[in-house]
Amino acid sequence: MNNKYWIFDKSQKELEEYCAAKGFKKYNAEQIMRWIYSCRLFDFSKMTDIPKPLRENLAGNFNASLSEIVDTQYETDAGGSSKKYLIKFRDGGTAESVLINYKKRKTLCLSSQIGCRMGCAYCETSGMGFTRNLTSGEIISQILTVENDTGDAVTNIVFMGMGEPLDNIGEVEKSLDIISNDKFIGIAPRKITVSTCGLLNVLNSLNFNEYRYKIAVSLNASDNTTRSMLMPVNKKFPIENLAALINGKKPSIHNKTTIEYVLIKGINDGIENAVKLIKMFSPAKVKFNLIPLNKEQNSIHLKNFERPDDAAVDNFKSKLAKAGFTVTVRFSKARSINGGCGQLKAKTINS
Ligand code: SAH
Repeated sequence: MNNKYWIFDKSQKELEEYCAAKGFKKYNAEQIMRWIYSCRLFDFSKMTDIPKPLRENLAGNFNASLSEIVDTQYETDAGGSSKKYLIKFRDGGTAESVLINYKKRKTLCLSSQIGCRMGCAYCETSGMGFTRNLTSGEIISQILTVENDTGDAVTNIVFMGMGEPLDNIGEVEKSLDIISNDKFIGIAPRKITVSTCGLLNVLNSLNFNEYRYKIAVSLNASDNTTRSMLMPVNKKFPIENLAALINGKKPSIHNKTTIEYVLIKGINDGIENAVKLIKMFSPAKVKFNLIPLNKEQNSIHLKNFERPDDAAVDNFKSKLAKAGFTVTVRFSKARSINGGCGQLKAKTINS
């Protein structure tokens, strides 16, 4: 780690202020950022339309090296392939990103924190505790580092890796300003999904009704007792308040809220649970994404939980579908390489 600024951590506004403070033009900031994010040029001396003194200043004060890939695991199946990356940041901290290649879509599942403090009982990341938030640059660098590895552009982003994005919303939003800006990385907001365990205070502050990016809410239960057991956050923000927020959103065919529901055998996968969900939500407002529990065979953290059999998953799905809901089942990609949902816990190279 050196004491230069890391260019990926700077917002456009911050870089404009820097340029202005050093006696250059504000618009130089956008030029620099276009070189970095649109042309993927990480060498300041080659930014030909930038005045030479600014190029020299940048080279002296900024670092533009990508994060380091320390491990990868690859898996293919009939539908596509997935590659899990262990990415090391400048302080040595690591997080995982998973690239899911499916038809023409290249979806990158990003981490927003190293570890997580939400404590969800079914999620491996919570078992590792919380180390720290990722910076906006560290979030963005997951995309640049993976694209640099594959040579292909990522088409979709999901914040479903390690961490709770709404618990680090400042850095997540800062990264999204660059990721979604079509002058820079240019992934459209409708191709970006922020997944949350339901931090209601943050959802409210984001103006949930008008939010530019897609939101997916991890619900995982149809009553408070079960949800509080699985997700401690429910004790603070109970299920009926979360449902009221989601139901209050203006209906829009193209922007229904996704309800993610991890199916756990004998805990939340009974037909009576589906019936409660049907009462709680309307097909005009939400669609369901069912995720049969992923679990490593020897998982200690998930030792009390099992994946339901396929018949139970099908029954649950049909019940919701018959009530008019759009339902998808996410048979997680990358499961055999522990890159499926909830399986990310940043194994270090030594473990
Ligand atoms: N903190 C955010 C994002 C990370 S989890 C959230 O809670 O939504 C991303 C997705 O993986 C969520 O839908 C979560 O419910 C799901 N998930 C977590 N653990 C899982 C597991 N063991 N098996 C299957 N899905 C899991």
